[in-house]
Amino acid sequence: MNFSLEENISLAPYCSMKAGGKAKYFCLPKTAEELISALRYFREHGEKHIVVGNCSNLLFTDEGYDGAVIIAAGIRGSKSEDGNITAYCGETLSSLARVACENSLTGLEFCYGIPGTVGGGVYMNAGAYGGEISQAFRCGKFLDENNEILTLNNEEMDFGYRKSVLNRKNLVLLSAEFACQKGEKAAIRARMDELMAKRKASQPLEYPSCGSAFKRPEGHYAGALIEQCGLKGLTVGGAQVSVKHAGFIINVGNATATDVIALLKLVSDTVFEKTGVRLEPEIRVIV
Ligand SMILES: Cc1cc2nc3c(=O)[nH]c(=O)nc-3n(C[C@H](O)[C@H](O)[C@H](O)COP(=O)(O)OP(=O)(O)OC[C@H]3O[C@@H](n4cnc5c(N)ncnc54)[C@H](O)[C@@H]3O)c2cc1C
Repeated sequence: MNFSLEENISLAPYCSMKAGGKAKYFCLPKTAEELISALRYFREHGEKHIVVGNCSNLLFTDEGYDGAVIIAAGIRGSKSEDGNITAYCGETLSSLARVACENSLTGLEFCYGIPGTVGGGVYMNAGAYGGEISQAFRCGKFLDENNEILTLNNEEMDFGYRKSVLNRKNLVLLSAEFACQKGEKAAIRARMDELMAKRKASQPLEYPSCGSAFKRPEGHYAGALIEQCGLKGLTVGGAQVSVKHAGFIINVGNATATDVIALLKLVSDTVFEKTGVRLEPEIRVIV
């Protein structure tokens, strides 16, 4: 075993909602090799397991995870070559944008400020301000459930709105290559700063959250519907619909995962009753 394994670890400090129970087993690999060893180990031992990044889009229930939680956020590093950037799965999306900027490459500015990793970003096809991962993703290296390494290109990823082939196939991203275009460093930096300023002005970044709580329903904006239904500030336990941005559910103090899940349901049901539009959670609840 070339990775460290801990037991009965509280997951809340690792999750951006700062809520959730404990993991039966927990490991934080620092390299892709350690990640592969951990996956082989848990598979050989028939142990339930999940690979996560920065846990900025997911919530473990208060009952915790009866298996192994593998946090890939420590597997960092990226390099730029011939207009492409190759990054390990744990590299943050903000750092990916910074590396592109340092190399005067444009196309990844939208990643700046999304608090996830490359692994979670590819899984979710993360996006913001008109950009999304699918526009830059060239190919990725994955470990499949037989512990074989395979490469998938953009077409094989079946990217859609906040989803990819990874939602239905058990593949773990090890690293990904992104294609960028030559640009002007100062303009790239200015665009990144502009997007960060927009985030700070519109999002409740001072509170723990998972970002947008609901997917954008076709033809509508989740936040606008929630606001229109008068739900800003609605609170269950320590979970609250943000007053600054109705699309966010924030932890205003010791929220449990149960509070957050109850509020997600209450908001979705109320919006449905009042508008006929059903909001689907973007936050992934892991059981
Ligand atoms: C303040 C705030 C702002 C946000 N803004 C945005 C935004 O503008 N746009 C946006 O799209 N999202 C946004 N998010 C949500 C979130 O940051 C993104 O969805 C991000 O891509 C999730 O990355 P992560 O590493 O945290 O993934 P996690 O939350 O850890 O995991 C998400 C999913 O990816 C899977 N996964 C993670 N790593 C791997 C891997 N290596 N291989 C296979 N599967 C993997 C997990 O199993 C899980 O199912 C925001 C969140 C917050 C808290």
